[in-house]
Amino acid sequence: MTSEPRGLAVLGATGSVGSTTLDVVDRYPERFRVVGLAAGRAGERLASLVERYRPEVVGLGSRREADRFSKRFGARHGVRIVGGPEGVEAVACWPGAETVMSAIVGAAGLRPTVAALAAGRVVGLANKESLVAAGPLVAKAAASGGGRLIPVDSEHAAIHQCLAGREEPPRRLWLTASGGPFRTATREEMREATVETTLRHPTWRMGPKITVDSATLMNKGLEMIEARWLFDQAPDAIRVVVHPQSIVHSLVEFDDGSFLAQLGAPHMAVPVQYALTWPDRIGTGLEPLSLEEALSLDFHPPDPERFPCLRLARTALEAGGDAAAVLNAANEVAVGAFLAGEIGFFDIPALVGETLGAHEVGEPGTLDDIVRADRWARTRAASLLPRMEVAAC
Ligand code: MG
Repeated sequence: MTSEPRGLAVLGATGSVGSTTLDVVDRYPERFRVVGLAAGRAGERLASLVERYRPEVVGLGSRREADRFSKRFGARHGVRIVGGPEGVEAVACWPGAETVMSAIVGAAGLRPTVAALAAGRVVGLANKESLVAAGPLVAKAAASGGGRLIPVDSEHAAIHQCLAGREEPPRRLWLTASGGPFRTATREEMREATVETTLRHPTWRMGPKITVDSATLMNKGLEMIEARWLFDQAPDAIRVVVHPQSIVHSLVEFDDGSFLAQLGAPHMAVPVQYALTWPDRIGTGLEPLSLEEALSLDFHPPDPERFPCLRLARTALEAGGDAAAVLNAANEVAVGAFLAGEIGFFDIPALVGETLGAHEVGEPGTLDDIVRADRWARTRAASLLPRMEVAAC
């Protein structure tokens, strides 16, 4: 390891992955120095993080929030506080930040992720929406700026490890899915799903948006698209298999019929720390998987009838262009409406499917093109919401 601690910027510092990232910093303070924090809101949690880590820069999603926060902190710690979208980008490109943890949920994480890669940073990518919405542009930014993407998503971290140091191309990538809270539920039970039952994920502890995505399997759909860009694979080489124990985090299949897999106890701290310390592997302090006790590993194909989001994601993956941006944006609108109690569980795929079906696929050349496709999809999906509310009653 290096003797100097690495400068670290955490985008989405108050969220689930942000907190796990800062736990790694607490465990290895000699390795990391928090130089930047970015968050959507200037709440008490962010205030306590600023007190604790004394970053050089804080980025906030809105200027008003930044003004509010400046009054409280600006003068006291000499911390620079920047508001608006450029505030988060300022943190992503902050000169002292060698590593950037990109953990803002949703499309808001796109520009800062691209900015960090274009500035040559090592980016731990927890914001899968960046690759889903703008995969080719994100890859281009990394190639031109010298930045490097290290996946934080447990499945992609697993594949990253299985492919490390190998010359031969994989035949297929197998993403494992826990199946979420409705793995064994009937269609009728799923139709009655509430926010509470949907948020009861069996194996992973995550934020609400991704937990809903895990219940619909849209999360796995988004991960297929993420894998396509992270590992430069053709759409039909990316497969999904349900694995309820969440111990095999993903597999890579090679031409000779061999599979390599990465296994471990399901805890987000492991892939988060992997991205931060890569290529080093160091202790997490967590209870490891025990092979001295009986252990069963089950695999079965996903049910396309109960999980239509998986098919919708494959449609977008194969369509290419801006289709995945539309899928992602429509899904964010649908999940937001579901969490607000406005629509039912199966209205999520209905809303996404209708939006995707109404979209004419374009070839985005810039981030602005992606933002336009994203906005179009949000407006379209929102316009369909009243009809869904009727259906949900
Ligand atoms: Mg995942």
